[in-house]
Amino acid sequence: MRSVLSRRDAMKVLGAGALLAATEMTSGLPAAEAGGDDSLGGYKDGKYVLPPLPYAYDALEPLLDARTMRIHHDKHHAGYVRGLNATLARLDADRRAGDFAAVKPLSRALAFNGSGHVLHCLLWQSMTPGGAKPPDALARALAGDFGSVESAMAQFAAASKAVQASGWGVLAYEPMGKKLLILQAGKHQDLTLWGVTPLLVCDVWEHAYYLKYQNRRADWVDAFMQLANWPTAARRLASAKA
Ligand code: MN
Repeated sequence: MRSVLSRRDAMKVLGAGALLAATEMTSGLPAAEAGGDDSLGGYKDGKYVLPPLPYAYDALEPLLDARTMRIHHDKHHAGYVRGLNATLARLDADRRAGDFAAVKPLSRALAFNGSGHVLHCLLWQSMTPGGAKPPDALARALAGDFGSVESAMAQFAAASKAVQASGWGVLAYEPMGKKLLILQAGKHQDLTLWGVTPLLVCDVWEHAYYLKYQNRRADWVDAFMQLANWPTAARRLASAKA
């Protein structure tokens, strides 16, 4: 099903437009399935947008309550989308006016809101009712890079629990070393490294769990591990390697 050319080579030879057509012809998949982050649903018609939850607000009960999900998605995530679009609009206006007096706070706002948007889009897909185990290819990759699937999950949970203040646990693919890494994100944008693709993320900001778990972040992370949607990580890893 895969194209003979790698995606990168095809881009050089054919250009992006032709690649899109070639990808659709050879893989039989829409471009969103074949590569990139279109599958997160966070960008449409020239604007960043709030994607709908892939399940009902109450679908993750009793481990995660509907009220938390509603506030988290409809208010917090929506706020990052609004902030991202507003920041880009302000940068555009300032650039046209030749006025870069606010470029420092705006650049910081771009990283904060943009990272918040990307991570929340991925968060909704990182959970599924009842959880879903790693498919074979991902299980092999986890075992290869972390010793075993169990060790990988133990490190992911420990890293998530140990985030300082507000942030995330992140399973990511690092393309230079072609390896999986477990990172912590500080706030949304700190403590990453350039070029990684986040595959599965656990939000440990208090807004993600406080109504149900109060200060017991470890209990929330343990619940997240029961909801984790590892096939999402597998799909994104295959896409990142393509
Ligand atoms: Mn959040």
